Amino acid sequence: PFDVLVVGGGPAGSASAIYAARKGIRTGIVAERFGGQVLDTLAIENFISVSHTEGPKLAAALESHVDGYGVDVMKAQRVEALVPAAEPGGLIELRLAGGASLLARSVILSTGARWRTMSVPGEDAYRNKGVAFCPHCDGPLFKGKRVAVIGGGNSGVEAAIDLAGIVAHVTLFEFDPKLRADGVLQAKLQSLPNVDVVVSAQTTEVHGDGSRVTGLSYLDRTTGQTRRVELDGIFVQIGLVPNTEWLKGTLALSPRGEIEVDAKGQTSLPGVFAAGDATTVPYKQIIIAMGEGAKAALSAFDYLIRVPAA
Ligand code: FAD
Repeated sequence: PFDVLVVGGGPAGSASAIYAARKGIRTGIVAERFGGQVLDTLAIENFISVSHTEGPKLAAALESHVDGYGVDVMKAQRVEALVPAAEPGGLIELRLAGGASLLARSVILSTGARWRTMSVPGEDAYRNKGVAFCPHCDGPLFKGKRVAVIGGGNSGVEAAIDLAGIVAHVTLFEFDPKLRADGVLQAKLQSLPNVDVVVSAQTTEVHGDGSRVTGLSYLDRTTGQTRRVELDGIFVQIGLVPNTEWLKGTLALSPRGEIEVDAKGQTSLPGVFAAGDATTVPYKQIIIAMGEGAKAALSAFDYLIRVPAA
């Protein structure tokens, strides 16, 4: 069996595997898609000390760093279930989609998350070409331009406030007749001169010129008319979904499905730790996921040296 088995090969899982392997313990990593969300990213300009890189380049660097430590890497494998240890210090079982099982004394869950999409024509085609999901990441790319934010919940309104300080103009679109964000955020939003809010609006299409976004169409749900707005970017803020469906009923998840962790990355199950976008830790970013991954590995090591093997 493994001493530490990491599920997920994104920034969090890679950092966990490296920190665990550096302790000289038997470490494995199972990942459906090594690199994770980083693979879907173009420019990365907030990974501190690297002023500019690209997603696929960072993903390749993660993988080669992990490989350098003799970690047992199992790629293109999906974990479908976790079976907790039967007794304190016992082995935890991970069941793979193909039917095989892996055993480990400790497990680090770092399965990440995925952005909820609008599922309208043009959204996929213009992803990273004007359609964006992360204002902290891509906001500065739209300096001086006109953008839309889709979604009037807390994350949409926060994004609009954030972007208003960078871009020329923000239009926020909300499906419901009113915004759902906290009152203080709505008040802040209303005080900004370069933000418009459109409610009862259902986005129906993303338009582009073949290489970049040029606008969007939406259905005005009060009049039934379709309208078109010209803009350079669209930030979709209708939810980040953690990849934790398979863990429901096994360990404690928040109402949003995030794995509940304490300050050391410990979950509700002994010997099981978690890190990155799949957890309750706020602000979903590469540098944060890596830090949390390192922390979870150190916590797993701490567990291994304290809890005798059953
Ligand atoms: P992920 O990167 O989501 O990795 C999850 C891993 O788990 C993957 O390997 C996946 O295949 C695997 N996995 C999931 N379920 C299973 C399973 N059941 N069995 C086995 N494996 C599984 N952040 C920044 O800091 N800067 C940026 O510029 C930036 N730009 C972004 C642009 C885009 C388009 C997107 C989508 C995100 C961006 N982010 C950016 C956010 C950043 O990518 C995430 O915060 C970060 O990747 C989270 O790392 P993670 O390891 O927690 O999860």
